[in-house]
Formats: sequence, C-alpha cells, structure tokens
Amino acid sequence: MIKITFPDGAVREYASGTTAIEIARSISEGLAKKVLAANVNGQVWDATRPITGDATLKLLTWTDPDAQSTFWHSSAHLLAEAVEALYPGVKFWVGPPVDNGFYYDMDLGGRQVTEDDLRKLEVKMAELARGNETFRRKQISKADAISYFTGKGDEYKLDLLENLQDGNITFYTQGNFTDLCRGPHIPHTGFIKAVRLTNIAGAYWKGDEKNKQLTRIYGVTFPSQKELDEYLAMLEEAKKRDHRKLGKELGIFTFDDQVGPGLPLWMPNGAVIIEQLETLAKETEGRAGYKRVVTPNIAKESLYITSGHVPYYQDSMYPPMELEGEKYYLKAMNCPHHHKIFAAEQRSYKDLPYRLAEYGTCYRYEQSGELFGLMRVRCLHMNDAHIYCTKEQFYDEFKAVNEMYLKYFRIFGIDKYVMRFSTHDPARLGKKYIDEPGLWKETEDLVRDVLIRTGTPYVEVPDEAAFYGPKIDVQIWSAIGREFTLATNQVDFAQGRRFDLSFTNRDNHPEVPLIIHRAPLGTHERFIGFLLEHYAGKFPVWLAPLQVKILPITDKSLEYAQSLSILLKNADIRVEVDDRSEKIGKKIRDTELARVPYMLVVGEKEMEGQKVAVRRQGLGDQGVKRIEEFIADIRKEITERTPNP
Ligand SMILES: [Zn+2]
Ligand SMILES: [Zn+2]
Repeated sequence: MIKITFPDGAVREYASGTTAIEIARSISEGLAKKVLAANVNGQVWDATRPITGDATLKLLTWTDPDAQSTFWHSSAHLLAEAVEALYPGVKFWVGPPVDNGFYYDMDLGGRQVTEDDLRKLEVKMAELARGNETFRRKQISKADAISYFTGKGDEYKLDLLENLQDGNITFYTQGNFTDLCRGPHIPHTGFIKAVRLTNIAGAYWKGDEKNKQLTRIYGVTFPSQKELDEYLAMLEEAKKRDHRKLGKELGIFTFDDQVGPGLPLWMPNGAVIIEQLETLAKETEGRAGYKRVVTPNIAKESLYITSGHVPYYQDSMYPPMELEGEKYYLKAMNCPHHHKIFAAEQRSYKDLPYRLAEYGTCYRYEQSGELFGLMRVRCLHMNDAHIYCTKEQFYDEFKAVNEMYLKYFRIFGIDKYVMRFSTHDPARLGKKYIDEPGLWKETEDLVRDVLIRTGTPYVEVPDEAAFYGPKIDVQIWSAIGREFTLATNQVDFAQGRRFDLSFTNRDNHPEVPLIIHRAPLGTHERFIGFLLEHYAGKFPVWLAPLQVKILPITDKSLEYAQSLSILLKNADIRVEVDDRSEKIGKKIRDTELARVPYMLVVGEKEMEGQKVAVRRQGLGDQGVKRIEEFIADIRKEITERTPNP
C-alpha cells in the first residue's frame, strides 16, 4: 500500500501502482471525468501514470494553469497527428504550450500552408479528438528511439535525441502519431472539444536565422465550444481596446521617430492621467508613512558596480557616456540612489522602518524587436519605493504593502488578481541563491503568512526567487479577462550589505536592514496601457483627462456655457465648451466618442433657470440639475475616486 496526501492534509491509502484517475474515481465519478493531469510530489504527471510510492497528490482540472498547459501541449500533439495525416512525410521540431494555446514547428518540405489549410487541419483535429485516442507513455532506449526517427527520416527529432540521456527518454503515442516527449499529457484526445488554429508564421530552426526556416502553426483549444467562443470574443474586444489604438484616438501618448523607438511622448491628456496617478500614490504613501525623495537620472559607473547592475544587468542598460574621465549610466533602477539616501545619515533602530518613495524615471535598453506600445518601452516612470526595516518589522511592513495593493485594486475595479510568490530552493543556496538559509526561511514564512491571513489569492512557485530574496509578481486581469503583470515586490538581503547600509540596533550594534522593493502601481507606461484596455478608454471621472464638456444647443446659449465653464474651472473641474456651430446631435456624438464622462447640454430654457441638462457617457440623459448641485455631485465623485457606474 502507498500513502497519498491530499492538498487539505488528508491521507488515504491505496494499492501501489494506483493512478491519479483511479484515485479521483474513488472520490467521485464526476471528478474522474474532469481530471486532466496530476501534481505528484510537486511534479506534473499524466493522470494515468501509476504511482508507486508515498506521495502528495493534487488532481488538476481545467481551471488549474498546469492542467491548461498539459491540455495545450497535448493539443500540439493532436495538431501534429492531423498534419501528418494530411501531409505525409512532414518532419517535426518542437511543439510546446504557450500562454494561450500552443504551437508546433515543422518542416513541410517546401509546402505553403494557407488559411484554408488551417480550416482543413481543424476539421481533422476535431475528427481525431472525437476518437478518444489515449496518450500512451513509453520509456524507450536511446538506440530504439534513434532507430525509430531514422526510419522516419526526421533529422530534427534525431537532433533533439543527441542531447538526451539514455534511460530518461520517453515516447508518447496517440492514434497513429508518436512523438519524442517528456510529457505529461491529458488522458485522451476526447477532452479536446473545440479547436482553433490561429496563425501561421515562419520560425528559424533553433531561432537561428542561419538555419532553415520552419513553419510554425499556432492554435488554441478548449474543453468546450462555449469556452472557445468566449475566448475569441475576448480577442475581438481586446482588438477594439488595444491601448495603442485608443492611446492615439484619445490623445494620450505618441511616438516620434526622431525622439526614438520605445520613448513615449505623453500628450496633454496622458499627462493628466499621470498627474492623477501620482497624486493618488503621494496621498496613499504619505498616509502610510513614506517620505518622498527625488534623485538624478544618471549616475557614475561605480554606483552600479556596487549594486551589481554592472556587469549583471548591463545588457539591459543604455551604454555609458563619458564625462570628465568618468563613465555615467542612465538610471535603470532607482534602488541604488535610494540606498545612498539611506546611507547619507546615521540611522538608528528608532528611524526604522524608513520608507523612501519616488516616481522614478528609469531607462532600459529593450531590443527594438521587443518594443510594444506602452507595454515594453525604453523610458519608464516607476511607482517605486524602498522600505528599510528590521527583521521584526518585516511582517507588518509587508502586510501594509499588500494592503496598499488591495486598496488600489478596489479603486481601479480590478477584481481578479494573483500574487505569484517565488521562493528559493534550499539545495541551491550559495549558487543560485544568496547563502542565508535562516533569512530565506523566515521571510518566506512571513510573506506566506501575510498572503494567507489576508486571504490574498496567490500561487507559490518554488525555485524562482531572485538571487537576493523571495519575490512576488503581481498578475492582474483586465475587465475583459486579459492577464497583465503589474509589478514585482522583492525582499532583499543582499543590497544592504553591498552598500554597507546599517543602523544602530537596540544593543547599540550596527545591523544591516532588510530592504523591501515595491511598486504597486507599476510604471505609468504599463499601468496606463492596462487601464486603457481595462476601461476601454472610458476613464472614471477622477482620472478622465476631460471631465465635463458643455454643449450649447445654439449660439444663443454660448455665453451661458462659457460662464458655466468658469464656475467649473474654479471648482477644479476639467471642462471645455463645444463652441462649434454644429447640430447638438453631432456635438453629443463626438463627445461620446471622446469618452468624456459628463456632458452638460444647455439651451435657452436651462439658461433661464440657471440649470444644466446632464448626460452621462454611455448612459444618456440624467435629468436637469441646478449648476451648484451638479458641481457638488461631481466634486464628490472626484474626491472619492468613484469607479465608473
Ligand atoms: Zn510533447
Ligand atoms: Zn528597488
């Protein structure tokens, strides 16, 4: 018998050789039908693979990301089977899962694949899927594997085999298709109910342009047609909400060839949003006891040698400029500058926690091919701060940072988020990780404790921490369900020592502080890019570049409109008058399109009663109000940062 430990801590006994599917069936038939894979002792396995020793077990169903990548990897095999059925003699390179789907790279022997062919392949895949072909795993000797692919004449798989150790080689077969593969796979193809091949691209073998160009077919699959339809609708919507398109239409940002790639120019409307975000950050951080600092955008090379950015991060920095015999670098991170501010004065435990905040401007060298709208840029403004604290203070400080995130999520209506908590691997201390076993354990336990106690959704990813401490990547989802990485929080045991930072502790001894790096609003670039998609350009009133547009029905009420605009401006409301001699219908349509939250329609009737007819973007007529009443209402909405209705 073997002991199986479940995620809730329950332990049950099973006969050795039992599979995850059988265990699922012992719980319920319904569950067994949904299990796609299993996490056995921390590794993702086929749900049909016999478990022969005591193990921890988590049954993986569709909603689990590991199950999804197993599903998509299996779909890549299904694609290959379909391709082989339609184009005999095709040779295959690799077919991994990606964020949303999978691809397979193949050598089609000069054959061109068209959109039409993709549709035919989809039909073939669906037909094969309906056959409920099981994915069979088989351990195979290197010699047998070589002879199989030699027989097939597939030099790409033979190339893969060269680097594999005998004894570690497995084949997976479904239907008529066999692949060299580590697995794992879903139990059978019948789970794949909806297929869409999304794209064809060229891909150089091994990513090297000197090599032959292979054909890459991208696809995505789902366990139901409904999920595929929803996914495609989301992509359609994402296209409409593309931040590059909206950013241009709404006058938020632009790029100019002479300024340079990846260097956004924030236009007046973008600058308003930036200012509002900074005000929010300053207010929030001020109340949380942060002190603001301002630091230069360049520094001498020696600073970055101390921090280790030179040489370890040098590839991501702009090349240095020489001045008075010294090399200067553009700032790629704010941390070293802040550390120098900490070091500038004698610190005692009474000064801690010491929290330094700055919307710091950083410059990073991203390859031109990697640049993407506001999402990947070369100049960024970061909602940065560094918290210097004692080990005893760490828990409360980290908790406060976490709460700040949650507060921001509420303000921006971000309902779905996950903290990706990367921890170290004790076996790699002193190599991949700084050799501080006690500190690693202590801080990781505290971080986990905060996440659990605050009910913050998180996933733990072992062996992916930074060199100098555990880190948390914050993933958020936009209103249409697209995932973004917002920011990273890090605990840092190393920089304090590298910069020789210390404070005098209670026993009058010098002690190195712990450092927390955090940036809840990420960078202006990435966050505003996200917000554009999230709000579809319809910013809530407090953030909207233009909050009110006054629309006189005819020129007779133009003067009244202008007097209203002065009243609103004096109440710090961003307002404009549409003084064009257009029909009111056109004025309303244009203002709707510009996503201005409020329209005040004024004609002679309103003028007589000192009133305004209020329209809300997307919601239409809101009735007539006295101007004082409207100002009081909108002021409240602005001060409270009320989300969109
Ligand atoms: Zn595979
Ligand atoms: Zn930092």
